[in-house]
Amino acid sequence: MKNPIDENYKLFINNAWQDGVEGKTFKTYSPANGELLATCVDAGREDVDRAVQAAWAAYNSWKDVSRDERFRLLMKLADKLDENSEKLATVESMDAGMIIRESMQEIPRGNDELRYYAAAMKTDEGGINVPDRDSINLVFRESLGVVGLIVPWNFPYGLAMWKIAPALAAGNTIVLKPSSETSLSMLEFAKVVAEVLPPGVFNVITGRGSTAGNYMLAHDGFRKLGFTGSTDVGFTIAKAAAEKIIPATLELGGKSANIVFPDCNWQKAIEGVAFGILPNQGQLCIGGSRVLVHESIYDRFLADCVDFFNAIKVGNPLDESSQMGAINNASQLKTILDYIALGRQEGARVACGGYRITDNGLGKGYFIKPTILADVDNKWRVAQEEIFGPVTCFIKFKDEADAIRIANDSPFGLGGGVWSQDINRAIRIARAIETGVMWVNCYYAVPQGMPFGGCKKSGIGRENHHRLALDAYTQVRTIHVSLNPDRMGWYAS
Ligand code: NAD
Repeated sequence: MKNPIDENYKLFINNAWQDGVEGKTFKTYSPANGELLATCVDAGREDVDRAVQAAWAAYNSWKDVSRDERFRLLMKLADKLDENSEKLATVESMDAGMIIRESMQEIPRGNDELRYYAAAMKTDEGGINVPDRDSINLVFRESLGVVGLIVPWNFPYGLAMWKIAPALAAGNTIVLKPSSETSLSMLEFAKVVAEVLPPGVFNVITGRGSTAGNYMLAHDGFRKLGFTGSTDVGFTIAKAAAEKIIPATLELGGKSANIVFPDCNWQKAIEGVAFGILPNQGQLCIGGSRVLVHESIYDRFLADCVDFFNAIKVGNPLDESSQMGAINNASQLKTILDYIALGRQEGARVACGGYRITDNGLGKGYFIKPTILADVDNKWRVAQEEIFGPVTCFIKFKDEADAIRIANDSPFGLGGGVWSQDINRAIRIARAIETGVMWVNCYYAVPQGMPFGGCKKSGIGRENHHRLALDAYTQVRTIHVSLNPDRMGWYAS
């Protein structure tokens, strides 16, 4: 496919491409070779305000579009996006550095979110209940208004769709800010939106967190904030929401434990360790970045994992034979390399990888060899902090209680895995570990019907193909009807 990326992108407000009022821009570069990809608008305060106003103007009619019609529009949007899947996936891989095999899954999955929530909205039957002979409660869910969505750079399309789809299906209108590292797939998404949805229903403000992001948080026009990103920025979002008394869904960081028992399916557990940390170059909130291995198998299991990691083909994201692509940006590349150096200082043994790849034509891009830090103590910073790269820490445990203690000794609680063919043990361990998701004999499977989100510092709220996400973009209202003119209220009965 020829380069599908435009040289310049504007802001998407009211289904029109608009310049930023202040005229500021930023550039976005290829993680695979460092070359300029596109120039985008660095939105100012007034731009955010224009987008919010457009979204409110659209809300007044979008919220009242009949369910049938909204369903039809969202299904049509999903179909049109599917027709553009290859283009969207290419843009995503060029901008985010993820391999094309992965983005070709991410885009259709994201589009399916629209179908899921359109159907969930259509089949919502609400509720009536009868508290006593003389009255009825009519209980129903309603949209919130204009919602502000702020998303990160690691799965720019998929994570945005986790929010966009339930928000639209519920009847809200949207102002979305993608990461300034990866704005392009959402801007391309907006081109398709313009063909299907009424003006103002979906708007994109591009810009940095410190500018456009902050202006969004300062704006009084939002009825909800939906955020995916780091725990640090999550605190800022939570404070902004609290000051305005609006809800916020927060999908934050993780440091998940992937726990291997001696009675595991050996080969599958090795694959599970690799599949737990290497997709998207380990820029995976849910990544199994701590591998807890029983002491009786530790050396042998580590050696086999090293062989597996060493055989992974790291290459150009657009090359279909690549198994791992590029780190998203120069700053993240430095962060990962700094953490590897820190691991060495703390006493870790670098069992494989541990360096930037500069040969085979990859020297201008941001590529890192899959890395295992072995013999790590769970108290060390490399085991406690999110590295967000293809780096996992191997930690020994003695018994079940030890594994549970180590796994829970983390500020985060997003995911984790257990590898054991003793199903009672596997479920016992899974229940004892405080995370949003625990996988048993698999890792990083995110099917429909699986609420995704964190415990502890990993966030608040659930997303991914689940009714809970639709609920999160609605509010419950009740109309209480008296059937008896003499009955005014409980106190007057
Ligand atoms: P980040 O927190 O730096 O940025 C996320 C978004 O917030 C970006 O759009 C950024 O521009 C914006 N932002 C930054 N500062 C802001 C501010 N002061 N005000 C308003 N907006 C601001 O995160 P990142 O580096 O883009 O993404 C990586 C992080 O995301 C990791 O911590 C990862 O674990 C997390 N993540 C979590 C999940 C999940 O579902 N729990 C999924 C993916 C990524």
